[in-house]
Amino acid sequence: MMYATRKLLAANLTTQILVALVVGTVLGLILNYWSNPFLENNLVNGLFGMIGQMFLNALQMLVVPLVVFSLLCGVIGIGDIRVLGRVGGLTFITYLATTALAVTTALVFASLIGPGTGFSGMHLADQNVAVASQQTAWDILANIIPKNPVHALANGEMLQIIFYVVVVGVAVLMIGSKAKAFVQGCEFMNELAMKIVEIVMAFAPIGVFCLIARTFALEGFSLFAPVIGYLTTISLTLVFHLCVTLMVLLYAFTGLNPRSFLRKMRSAQVFAFSTSSSNATIPASMQCVTQRVGVDRSVASFGIPLGATINMDGTAIMHGVATVFLANVYGIDLGLGGYLTVISISVLASIGTAGVPGVGMVMLAMVLNQLGMPLEGIAIILAVDRLVDMMRTVVNVTGDAVVTTIVAQRVGKLDHSVFNDPNAGTLDVTHLEIDHGAEREFAKLTHAKTDV
Ligand code: ASP
Repeated sequence: MMYATRKLLAANLTTQILVALVVGTVLGLILNYWSNPFLENNLVNGLFGMIGQMFLNALQMLVVPLVVFSLLCGVIGIGDIRVLGRVGGLTFITYLATTALAVTTALVFASLIGPGTGFSGMHLADQNVAVASQQTAWDILANIIPKNPVHALANGEMLQIIFYVVVVGVAVLMIGSKAKAFVQGCEFMNELAMKIVEIVMAFAPIGVFCLIARTFALEGFSLFAPVIGYLTTISLTLVFHLCVTLMVLLYAFTGLNPRSFLRKMRSAQVFAFSTSSSNATIPASMQCVTQRVGVDRSVASFGIPLGATINMDGTAIMHGVATVFLANVYGIDLGLGGYLTVISISVLASIGTAGVPGVGMVMLAMVLNQLGMPLEGIAIILAVDRLVDMMRTVVNVTGDAVVTTIVAQRVGKLDHSVFNDPNAGTLDVTHLEIDHGAEREFAKLTHAKTDV
């Protein structure tokens, strides 16, 4: 036991996070089986809930400063406004194309498997179903420009933040050498943000453990039986999109080995699975694609946060499968027009919605509304949505990384030597020690100031 613990503490952070995920799942299922009010209040919702929430808050605390400063450095680093336009345009189009591909695959799989036919367990009466606010594509585009950038920053409005930061970066490029001090300041702030990411990541095994143990303790497996067909179809489609579609695209456009790529993305995927949030996974994804895969920071700082907001392959898959499932349950024939509506609404809805837990369900209400299908149907699949959310977020995040890597290759910003080094950027917390020399120097400086 002691030996195993010592070995685990010496292992790299990714391994520790994976172990935390497995142990947390097992403990959660045990707690679910032996559930009692005392444990549920004090351990599951109490201690695990508190630590899990602290970890989620800490991850979210990282996002805005990291995106702002790394994107600013990225835009200034690209240096040429035309190249910037090319990177932006290419990323945007590829994101939309992969999401459309994902939902189409889901419609095909769901039509072939036919989940929901013969379903008999409807309890629709008293469920509350969120109805999506109906934003048109025009509203979404208009709102990319923030009225107040401080409001956008304070609320983590990712598209508005990206827009504003790109404008500032372009203005800095136009000002030229006079902006040197500002650029140095941004570089320092970027380094600082990255250091804080490392500090928070060091707590990831504990955070992941608590989040997962709580989720499985509360959800258990019994909820899944009635909708097993729906769950199986979604899981198969997610796995297919992740391991076949995305990996074929990656290999075709970059020549990178898909297995190594997936191995290098593992820690970001575990984060996505345990937080169910592409937004909260931005720091981990940035670390994986820049330090492990070899994407230049200038492309990653744009592609990853943009992807967290506009690219939701996994969510689109859920929309496709859920619509066919519910159509089968209600005996509705969707027809070609219905399929095309699902594809277009799912792609458009993904542009305007942030990657946070559960948002895909709200978007599904939008899709069903558009098709004129009864919204109460959502209640049938709501019970299992937490698990589906965890799985689809993994696909969302991997999709972001694949597209960012493809774009980096196209614009010559992918370093294959980093990718080919299996140990490049492995998460390691040994360099988080405090530099005592610097500490003494800072102390002297502060004393000198107070003496004056
Ligand atoms: N949780 C997903 C994400 O953050 C969005 C969703 O499908 O609910 O990417």
